Amino acid sequence: MTTDDERLLRRAIALAAEARAGGNPPFGSLLLGPDGRVLAEERNSSVTDRDITAHPELKLARWAARELSPETAAGTTMYTSCEPCGMCAGALARSGLGRVVFALATEQLTELRPPGTGFPAVPAVGPALFDEARVPVAGYYG
Ligand SMILES: [Zn+2]
Repeated sequence: MTTDDERLLRRAIALAAEARAGGNPPFGSLLLGPDGRVLAEERNSSVTDRDITAHPELKLARWAARELSPETAAGTTMYTSCEPCGMCAGALARSGLGRVVFALATEQLTELRPPGTGFPAVPAVGPALFDEARVPVAGYYG
């Protein structure tokens, strides 16, 4: 962790405070380009947008995948006020971003939340119908 990393994390934390002040969950992120310039900033807007996916990390990952070349994306660093959740981590894995630097760890966030405020797992049933389900997938990945 360099002093530049800490400076940029402080900006992500400020974005988190802005999200909270605007009526949203307190999370913020920014994306630093390969040349050291901030390419984009985002705040959580899941309440005001009425969108459960409006996490700043996911919004930036979608933006980067849409707007940046794979080479540029690989040279970026995301700074985020909290360790990305499972949804955002999945998007980040698909985005091709180079690195993520976070402030609060998931375990630290959990300690700050009252008990019972997490998200219960949705029961999943499967696998099933392999012979039918494999048909549209077979050959797709080369
Ligand atoms: Zn998330």
